[in-house]
This record gives sequence, C-alpha cells and structure tokens, in this order.
Amino acid sequence: MKKSIYKRILLKLSGEALAGNQGTGINTTVIQQIAQDIKLAHETGVEIGLVIGGGNIFRGIAASAQGMDRASSDYMGMLATCINSLALQDALEKAGVPTRVQSAIEMAEIAEPYIRRRAVRHLEKNRIVIFAAGTGNPYFTTDTAASLRAMEINAEVLMKATKVDGIYDKDPAKHADAKRYDKISYIDVLNQGLQVMDSTAISLCMDNKLPIMTFDLAKPGNILKAVQGENIGTIVQ
Ligand code: UDP
Repeated sequence: MKKSIYKRILLKLSGEALAGNQGTGINTTVIQQIAQDIKLAHETGVEIGLVIGGGNIFRGIAASAQGMDRASSDYMGMLATCINSLALQDALEKAGVPTRVQSAIEMAEIAEPYIRRRAVRHLEKNRIVIFAAGTGNPYFTTDTAASLRAMEINAEVLMKATKVDGIYDKDPAKHADAKRYDKISYIDVLNQGLQVMDSTAISLCMDNKLPIMTFDLAKPGNILKAVQGENIGTIVQ
C-alpha cells in the first residue's frame, strides 16, 4: 500500500456524516463504514487526530434561534460531540484500531481530559486521538476546534470530510453550472463567503498557514486517497 505523504493529520468529520440518510442520530452501518475508511488510511502510517461535530444530534445556534440561551445550547452541542466521539471510538476499536477520547470538558468516567502533551504521546504510539467537546467554549464550532487542535498537535493538514466533494463557486445542489475549485486561497474563501468552515476557523488556519483539504466522506476510500496525496476535493491554502 502506498504510504501516507503526511506524518500527522487532523481529520474533521461533520456530525451529520454519522446520520446517513436518516438525517439525525447515529446510523451504525454508516459509522462502521467510516471506521473502516479511517482504518485503511491509518494503515498507511499516518498519525490521526479526529474531531467530530455534533450537528446530527444538537446544534446550539439552531436551538438559540428558537429562544434557548445561546451558551446553554452550545454546551448541549458540545455534549452531542461527546456522544459522537464515543460512538466513533467504539466503531474504530471494533475495527481493531486503538483510540483514546480526550474531552475539552472534564468527564473523567468516560474520557481523558484534554492534555496536549498526552495527546501527542498517544499519536506517537499510533493511537487515534478523538478530541471531544469542541474547544470547551460556547460560541465556537467544531471546525474551529479542529483547526485549534490541528495546530496544537502540529498536524500538517486539516482534512475536512463532508457531504460535498469540495468547494464550489455556488451551491452545486441548486446550480448545475457550479464550478469546483481544485485550490483556493483562504482570503478568497473569506471574501466570497464560501461555505467551507466558519470564518473563525478559516482565519485561524490562514494566520497559522495550516492547509485545509475538503472532500466527500461518503465515497469509500476517500480518506485513504487524501492521505496518499491525491487531491480529491479542494485545497485551501
Ligand atoms: N460547540 C460549541 N463550542 C465548540 C464546538 C461546538 O459550543 O467549541 C457546539 C455548538 O453549539 C455547535 C455544536 O456544538 O452547534 C455542534 O458542533 P458543530 O455544529 O460544529 O457540528 P457539525 O456541524 O460539524 O456537525
């Protein structure tokens, strides 16, 4: 098998990816498929930090639009990411991949607390580290958490695997003539308001020169191709 071109990556999965066609919750068949894909990529020798969103269970901003206190609803969103992290841990371990979950909000019975040096040690020992509870702060997203953790663990790239196969100049679901970018700069993403990640996350990556790769998670084998250096979506740098 062709080796990974990266030593260490941060892989961000949206919570919705776990729901499959059912839209919400966790689809066990889908999560097993994702675990197999991550395992394949891991076998190329790359060290993997993982961040999973919570949108399949709860999104703070949506609940606050309906009248909930924003900070409270965001904490609920962070708890949703913990549920997804444990589900992904289970699926990965069933597939034979050693993992650790580290949470930004302490919950000692189910996850380690986030300790950067310990996370790096796990990665060096070839364990996949799943970073749960986002940044631990309301008003942020898991995209920002992924950018932050990527920098902290010195990942060479942030891979954002979603439902879309890259970044388009307009919504490909609505416009047949939408054009996909192979590469695009951070500043163009910000200026054009392209829906890749929120502006806090993009700015953090821009300021710290962390490249972002976006691609479609639903296609089996895509994570493997990405770590082997194939551009299967769009690169922001
Ligand atoms: N969240 C938060 N702080 C963080 C990360 C996440 O408050 O650092 C909350 C926020 O309410 C968000 C929810 O957790 O809506 C789920 O995360 P996100 O929407 O990023 O998940 P995704 O869209 O990737 O599934």
